[in-house]
Amino acid sequence: MTIKLPIYLDHAATTRTDPRVVEAVLPMFTENFGNPGSRNHSFGWRAEEAVETARRQVADLLGAEPKEIVFTSGATESNNLAIKGAAYMYAKKPAGETGRGHIITAMHEHKAVLDPCKRLQKEGFDVTYLQPQRDGLITRAMVEAAMREDTILVSIMWANNEIGTINEIPEIGALCHERNVVFHTDATQWVGKMPTDVNRDNVDLLSLSGHKIYGPKGVGALYVRRRRPRVRLTAIQEGGGQERGLRSGTLNVPGIVGLGKACELCAQEMDNERDRLLALRKHIEEKVTTALDVVQINGHPDKRLPHLTNISFGFVEGESLMMATKEIAMSSGSACTSASLEPSYVLKSLGIGDDLAHSSLRISMGRWTTKEEVDYAADKIIEAVRKLRDLSPLYDMHNEGIDITKIEWQAH
Ligand SMILES: *Cc1c(COP(=O)(O)O)cnc(C)c1O
Repeated sequence: MTIKLPIYLDHAATTRTDPRVVEAVLPMFTENFGNPGSRNHSFGWRAEEAVETARRQVADLLGAEPKEIVFTSGATESNNLAIKGAAYMYAKKPAGETGRGHIITAMHEHKAVLDPCKRLQKEGFDVTYLQPQRDGLITRAMVEAAMREDTILVSIMWANNEIGTINEIPEIGALCHERNVVFHTDATQWVGKMPTDVNRDNVDLLSLSGHKIYGPKGVGALYVRRRRPRVRLTAIQEGGGQERGLRSGTLNVPGIVGLGKACELCAQEMDNERDRLLALRKHIEEKVTTALDVVQINGHPDKRLPHLTNISFGFVEGESLMMATKEIAMSSGSACTSASLEPSYVLKSLGIGDDLAHSSLRISMGRWTTKEEVDYAADKIIEAVRKLRDLSPLYDMHNEGIDITKIEWQAH
C-alpha cells in the first residue's frame, strides 16, 4: 500500500467533513433553502423539519431531549453563552457591583472558556482557576475544596484538547447538583468519540462543535438542561428570538443539518472507532518510546482520549522537529502568539517546564487514519529526533552523564 502525503494527524484541531455529511448538507443550499422561521409556507416548513431532525440527532448523541439543544456557531459561542448566560442569570448582585458570584474553572481550559471568565471577573464576578494535577486531571475533591457559599457556576472541560486527559465529570456534576451550582462542561473533544449521557453524567450545560466531529465548521450546539434542575440562561445575542430566545439569528440550516448527520454517524461508529483509534495511539506511543530515550508522554496514563497523544522529546526543539517532518501535519507544544513562540499554557499549567513544553508534539488521529500512516509517521519522527539529537551538544553531554537540564525525565 502506498502512503499518500501529507498525512493528517491533527484531528484535535479540526476534521475533514465526512462525505456523508456533505451529501446531507448540499440540498439545503439548493432545493431546501427555506428559512425555518417562515411559518406560512412549505419552504419554511421543510427547512424547519430538517432542523428538527438535526436537533433530535444531536440530542440522541447526548441522551438529551431535542428541546434542550440550542444551535450556535461553534463551541466558542456555546461556551460564551453558557458561562456568561449562567453568570448573568444567577448573579447575586446587579451589574456594576462587586461580589456578584463565584465561578470555578481550571487553568488549562480552552481560551473560549478562560476569556469569558476573565471578562466576568472585570464585571464583578470572582473566578477560581484550579491548577490541574501533573497528569492534567481535575478531580471532584479539587472542585469541592474550591466551593464557596457564593459559588454559582462550575465550568470544567470533559477532556483536554492538548493532552487528552479526561476529567471526573460525572463526579463533579454530582457535587454541583448537591450544592445547587450550575455545571457546564466544554465537551468539544469528548462528544462523538466517547459515550455521553447528560443525565447519568450530571451535566447541566454542554458545549460541542461540528468541525471536531467530522461535521462542518461554524456550527455547534449548547445543551441546556430543562429538568431536574431547570437551568436558565440570559441571552447574549438578541434579535429575532430564534432558539427560544437564547440565540437570535436566522438558523444556519446547512450547518445544522451537517452537525446532525455528523452526530448520527458518530453514534453509529463510536464503539469501533474508539477501539481502533486506541490501538493506533498505543502503537505509536509504543514505537516511539521503544526507539528513543528521554521521551515522555504527557497527560494521564489511562484517563485519556483514545485518539490523541502528546509527547515530549528531550533535546529536540518542537518547531525543528515539525520542520523536519513537514509531510506530517501535527501540532507543537508551542502556541504561536503574534511573533513570539510561547510554550503552551496548558503544558505549563501541569508544571511542565518551558524546555519540555517546547519539545512537545500533539498527534491526533481520526476516522480515516490508517495503521500504515501511523507507522510511517512514527518512523519519520524517530528518524528526525535522532538526526536533530546528533547535532545537539546537550544530548552528547547528557549521554556522558552530565546533568545540564535538571529536567526530571519520567521513566517509561
Ligand atoms: C476546538 C475547541 C473549541 C472551539 O471550538 P470552535 O467550534 O472552533 O469555536 C473549544 N473548546 C475546545 C476544547 C476545543 O477543542
